[in-house]
Amino acid sequence: MKSGNQINRPLADTESTAPKGSKLLFSYLRTFLHYAGWKVWVSISLMVLLGFTQGIGLLMLLPFLKIIGIGDSGTSGGPGIAWIENFFIDTGIPLNLPVVLILYILIVTTQALATRYQQVLNAELVNGFTLFLRNRFNRALTYTGWLTYIRTKAADITHVLTSEMGRVAGVTRQLMVLPGNFLVVFVQLGVAFSISPPMTAAAIVCGGCLLLIMRPYNLRVQQSGKALRNSTNSMYASIMEFMAGMKVAKSYGVEQTHLEIFRKNSTEISKQLVRFTRIISKTGMYFQIGTAVAIGAFLWGAVEIAHLAAERLLVLVFIFSRLLPRFRQMQQSYHQILHTLPAFEAASVMQMQLEQDQESPSPKDYKGVSLKEAIQFQRVSFKYDKRLNTFAVNGIDLRIPGRRMTAVVGPSGAGKSTLADLMMGLLVPDEGRILIDDLPLSGERLHAWRRSVGYVPQENFLFHDTIRINLQWAKSDATESEMRRALESAAALDFVMEMPEGLDTVVGDRGVRLSGGERQRIALARALLRNPTLLLLDEATSSLDSENERCIQQAVERLHGDITVVAIAHRLSTISMAEQVVLLDKGQVVETGIWQELLQRPNGRIRAFSQGL
Ligand code: ADP
Repeated sequence: MKSGNQINRPLADTESTAPKGSKLLFSYLRTFLHYAGWKVWVSISLMVLLGFTQGIGLLMLLPFLKIIGIGDSGTSGGPGIAWIENFFIDTGIPLNLPVVLILYILIVTTQALATRYQQVLNAELVNGFTLFLRNRFNRALTYTGWLTYIRTKAADITHVLTSEMGRVAGVTRQLMVLPGNFLVVFVQLGVAFSISPPMTAAAIVCGGCLLLIMRPYNLRVQQSGKALRNSTNSMYASIMEFMAGMKVAKSYGVEQTHLEIFRKNSTEISKQLVRFTRIISKTGMYFQIGTAVAIGAFLWGAVEIAHLAAERLLVLVFIFSRLLPRFRQMQQSYHQILHTLPAFEAASVMQMQLEQDQESPSPKDYKGVSLKEAIQFQRVSFKYDKRLNTFAVNGIDLRIPGRRMTAVVGPSGAGKSTLADLMMGLLVPDEGRILIDDLPLSGERLHAWRRSVGYVPQENFLFHDTIRINLQWAKSDATESEMRRALESAAALDFVMEMPEGLDTVVGDRGVRLSGGERQRIALARALLRNPTLLLLDEATSSLDSENERCIQQAVERLHGDITVVAIAHRLSTISMAEQVVLLDKGQVVETGIWQELLQRPNGRIRAFSQGL
């Protein structure tokens, strides 16, 4: 597993990196066999048992028919019939009606037991495999590098994790019944062959011709499956985008536009589903007509050419009448699989992309990283698209003193957030290095360092749960007094205690409505609960009113001297609190120093910048 390396190319689309056709099916089978292990062999053994009992049951029809007086006993049989007759002669069991009926009951009971067990086993395998794929995907997603994550569309991820994984379960379900059906058809053909080899051979040739006629439809089915995948993906994207921008959409009154996009995508989905049914029903129709012609020719040949005895003809007709629907079912299953495989394709392509940039899971027992002296950026450069020559930050040399407050300012697009992500160890420099007290920020230290950072972004998220759960998310074993202390440091204790159920008040998406400032103060408390070495405020107060901003500033001021604070800010009030100010522009540090001194510089960039604030 690679550790924390960012990939050097953008995420490719599904079409260009997808394994094709049968390769995909093999890849699916390999993954499935790897997951299912011995259970597959149990399932296959049950299928063999079912096929075998089917065969015996069919062969038993001949002696039964003879016993009840249909057909003559003088016609010599094929190997199957000889085997049955020899079995009764060798064992000395009389071949009479009660024996045949008891055998029949035994066979059916064995089949019923095997079928029941197999159904449960198959359900376990189908659902277990989907769960396995979902968890594997989720794991790859969780441990993928930040750069890969931000490049992946949220709608694509949701689409794969919900709709596509559900469809993959459909492939497994079909695949699980396919070998069973195949085996039963094989056994039925074997029995038919033992009764009349030339007639069975003729039937197999007819079946082969039918499959050849159906071949062109395989491609159409696959294309329809891909089109369905693309339409559902677009539908997910439009839903998520609309929900994210609901407020703006409503304020612009563009609900109608959304409705149209949604209608277009969902109509396309329904069209694709109808198209698939159309193909399936068309192949079914050809199949039915083809089999009627084949049966007609077969019966004609059996009576007029092969002159088959009545009981043999009867058993053959019985076998083929059972075989044909199964044959058709197999062919339909194959089409279902082809139609659904693009879902597996989408999931595995995205999985591959996520796995190319995996970080090792953070160790459970870790020691936080202390910071006494400084965080140092040494000629640090980073670009998002490795193919281009556009750097988001370029050759940064910077010293951020420990236990002091540093404000990073600069125009939009200057590289402030990138600098913050590099400082947190979320992004890894393409050139240069970052040192924490003279030790490089890389490898194992990355995890420990990230856990030592308290990060408060502009848009904070709170779970739709209690304040307690929201706080414990950062530190699961936090005690009541630790939580209170953190809330107090974040100037949040008073308003939390005034809430109906204090710490156990449900907040978040649809809970008690909190003002932006209150949300930020809880978020700050959550960051402080971890006793961070570095508190990183990424425009944390920029959307707050001055009252709330002051609250947070006072809270941060109280932390002075205890922890290192880096605030990405654009308000003078925040900047003026800092001991050091860094001005970034076009990915480079253009000025750095003490605020008051920088303001005094006659042609200082910060001075000019601050006048625009
Ligand atoms: P700031 O926080 O100062 O507004 P950023 O660090 O967000 O600046 O961006 C610095 C540069 O990097 C900008 O040119 C921006 O377009 C680019 N950039 C930021 N995020 C991404 C991204 N996810 N993919 C590609 N380019 C990005």
